[in-house]
Amino acid sequence: MSDRLEETKIERDFTARSTEEQKDFLSQTWCNQCMEVDLGMTNPREYESKDRVWIEGECVRCGHLTVTEIVEEDE
Ligand SMILES: [Zn+2]
Repeated sequence: MSDRLEETKIERDFTARSTEEQKDFLSQTWCNQCMEVDLGMTNPREYESKDRVWIEGECVRCGHLTVTEIVEEDE
């Protein structure tokens, strides 16, 4: 995994997703701080760059940044 700072990220509208999808993304998380899955996240923000789409939020337990990458089919 490479996280380049110069990567251009564009904010998307997370709330444009269906309620079901939002619920899934907010519950299916991985926290690097807690080292546990599915703790959940709050304050979700969705971003896209040239190659990927992801959601950043705060871990429900520790408040640390948690990132969920989204794999999307080509439309
Ligand atoms: Zn955590």
